[in-house]
Amino acid sequence: MKNPARIIDYSLKIFKAEWPNLVLWSFLLSPLIVRTLANYQYSKIDLLVVYTLGMSVLWLLAIRFVSSSQFKVHIILLPFYLVAAIDLFLVLNFNSRLTAAYIYIGLTNYQEASEFLPTYWQPISVVLVVFILCYGAGLIGLHKRELYKNKGIFVLVVSALLVGYGAYFYKTVKLNSFGKSAVMDLLAKDQSTPVGYLSQIALTANLYLGTENLIKRRRESDVKIISMSDQSNIETIVFVIGESSRPQNWSLYGYNKETTPNLGKQAGLFKFNQICTTAPYTSFAVPSMLSLEPISDWDAIASTKSLVSIYRAAGYMTYWLSVQEVDSFGGIIPQIAAEAQYRQYFERSYDGALISEYEEILNKSDTQKKAIFIHVKGSHFEYSRRYPENFDKFKPSTDNFKDKITAEYDNSILYTDWLLSTIIDRLKSSKKPSVLFYSSDHGENMMDDSRGLLGHGIGNKYDLPVSAFIWASGNVSNPQSLKLLKLKARESQKISISSLSHTLLNITGVFTSRYKSSEDLLSDDFVSSKCPHLLGAGYVPSFDFDAL
Ligand SMILES: [Zn+2]
Repeated sequence: MKNPARIIDYSLKIFKAEWPNLVLWSFLLSPLIVRTLANYQYSKIDLLVVYTLGMSVLWLLAIRFVSSSQFKVHIILLPFYLVAAIDLFLVLNFNSRLTAAYIYIGLTNYQEASEFLPTYWQPISVVLVVFILCYGAGLIGLHKRELYKNKGIFVLVVSALLVGYGAYFYKTVKLNSFGKSAVMDLLAKDQSTPVGYLSQIALTANLYLGTENLIKRRRESDVKIISMSDQSNIETIVFVIGESSRPQNWSLYGYNKETTPNLGKQAGLFKFNQICTTAPYTSFAVPSMLSLEPISDWDAIASTKSLVSIYRAAGYMTYWLSVQEVDSFGGIIPQIAAEAQYRQYFERSYDGALISEYEEILNKSDTQKKAIFIHVKGSHFEYSRRYPENFDKFKPSTDNFKDKITAEYDNSILYTDWLLSTIIDRLKSSKKPSVLFYSSDHGENMMDDSRGLLGHGIGNKYDLPVSAFIWASGNVSNPQSLKLLKLKARESQKISISSLSHTLLNITGVFTSRYKSSEDLLSDDFVSSKCPHLLGAGYVPSFDFDAL
């Protein structure tokens, strides 16, 4: 075999024997490969991409050696090919894989299918033609073909698959804990082809069935707009939900490194120096932030519709753009997203991946008001995966672990500063009266003291305070601009993220019966917050954190 000519000869023989399988494999792998190539500027090629690709190749080899009658095997696999075709369609049109997020959209899309076909008939036809050509050619090639058999390879490949899933399971058990959540995480991260589709379907079914009762109650809950003030001329609302972004590392709030150079210069920005979350977990903080109900009544938050539905009922076109995937860590967030008329996910990307879609939404020529909800990945662990190379500005001073993650965390804040400034700049160029609300869901422990705590979910002065601000464009009507000046007085007052929803209602002049002036930062009735929050399964009525 050392002779190159013989190697070429041998490869040719394999190719001649196996070409139908290669054609079928390339179709099944195409969504994964196209997505990785198309997204390279928006994400790091990390271990997860390698894992997904590796597992896919192993599954394809297992299918190849499970039986020598490959023709029959691939006929049986037809449903997987159809799902792969949908996957390819999503990748080509929305730059996203067919993950639980999109299966969930399929389950909860209240829009009529009649709109879908006229809009997408061209890309659908292209994908169908590619599918028919590949699948047809592959099957014709396999028909009555004698193929090489080897049970040993099959056993080897299946063992490798077990090792692969086992290794991921071990990693997630170490990071989270042994139990259902670890299994759910394994399913969420299994985006291999073709078997990963089953994982995504199982994950969605589990999330859906687990909350079916709640979904029903949310759908049946009513949104009643009781008044709409004509004092407000705001046409665009942007509500950005941040992730694990604590004020201690923002120069806007006094950090000694220049992590927010752009926001620091932004006119029309009102910041809050003492604002706390309602729970140091994403799955509770985000629904609470978008609800008018207090955190003392979690059931009311979970079973009633959010701000998204309120603005939809008020005649706004509602959008949900998310860089966070749908998984078991998000709780009811996918149901909140489902209240929006338009949803798009940018999974496993940098936050900046959503900018072009956001611009398109702003540039739409219609006159309808818009409410755009943006759920970013922000400073989610692992911090080094949250920003592209050109934001790698802060370097650790030593090779100590704490210095390393602090530098990475600071870079992620620098990137958030760029993202939020870009979002604000686009609003300015639209020339429409607009407001932007930004708030992180919770803070983060960064090994601050001798305990060396990292992450959130602890409920202390590092993960309860959040970075948050309100920005308004210069052309907001006079009465509303005057109201906004009240925010100056809130800058060092103790407030809670649960006030943001009530404040948004006032500034946009949309009122429901659940609006409370004592929660509204623009109202003279406002009462400063004791920072009540949920911790574990319990309700904590107050928290005293030192001034930052
Ligand atoms: Zn979070």
